[in-house]
Amino acid sequence: MNNTQTQQEYRREYSKEYQKANPEQTKLSKAKWREENRKYTREYAKNYYKNNKKKYTERYEAEKEEMTQKSKDYHNTPNGKRRHTISYWKTKRKIECDDFNKLYDTFQNSTVCNKCEKPYGERGDRSGIYKSLSLVYGTNRVDCISCFRCMNRSKTIAKNNIYKSALNINV
Ligand SMILES: [Zn+2]
Repeated sequence: MNNTQTQQEYRREYSKEYQKANPEQTKLSKAKWREENRKYTREYAKNYYKNNKKKYTERYEAEKEEMTQKSKDYHNTPNGKRRHTISYWKTKRKIECDDFNKLYDTFQNSTVCNKCEKPYGERGDRSGIYKSLSLVYGTNRVDCISCFRCMNRSKTIAKNNIYKSALNINV
């Protein structure tokens, strides 16, 4: 070992000891160094990513698959279904409600249409009487839980009433 190497090693040892003894100071000076060399560190990170892109992509792909599966599994749990439906009501139908969980429970427990009192059909069975959330026409408030047909009928009646009252027809 030549002289320079010994000196380097000594310096490294010394700085390690110093850092251990002065953690706060070390933290500050490291932050200062990063600040002063921001461009360099950014460049380094960029290059590091570029050189390890394959590794990152592979990890990302693997995690994505796992996450997709997980979210699919969650979707099929009662809790997942509840959250999905409530979020649909909130974001797509813009329904206003104080207690969405209660609304969901009522919806789930409803077995016959609140208007025609027929048992609901299944969505997609072409009966047109699957369970629906009927809103008060022209608002985002829930009117009742009814079959799809009754929901549409009450919508038409409400529309006609507005039309008639606009024309001042009392029928
Ligand atoms: Zn009905």
